[in-house]
Amino acid sequence: MKDTIIERIIELIKSKPLTISEILNELELDRKSKRNVIELMNKIERISKQKGWKLIIYPAQCKKCGFTFKEKIKPPSKCPRCKSQWISEQRFFLKV
Ligand SMILES: [Zn+2]
Repeated sequence: MKDTIIERIIELIKSKPLTISEILNELELDRKSKRNVIELMNKIERISKQKGWKLIIYPAQCKKCGFTFKEKIKPPSKCPRCKSQWISEQRFFLKV
């Protein structure tokens, strides 16, 4: 992936909190690019620290039991409490 993608993601999440899926849609990327976008999020987190920005993560939540996950970049696959895979995606917002 080119650096321009990372710049576009930064612009997107500066304007409003978005999920990985929404970012893929906005950038017209295939769902297969999901892992790449997650990697870029890690990169954005590092850039943010250098620049003094704040990457805010609105955590994922289990839609079945309401369990709130930790504020992690990597999306959870299943709920540790009820084992459900029905999970809302976390959102990313960049406060500059
Ligand atoms: Zn659950």
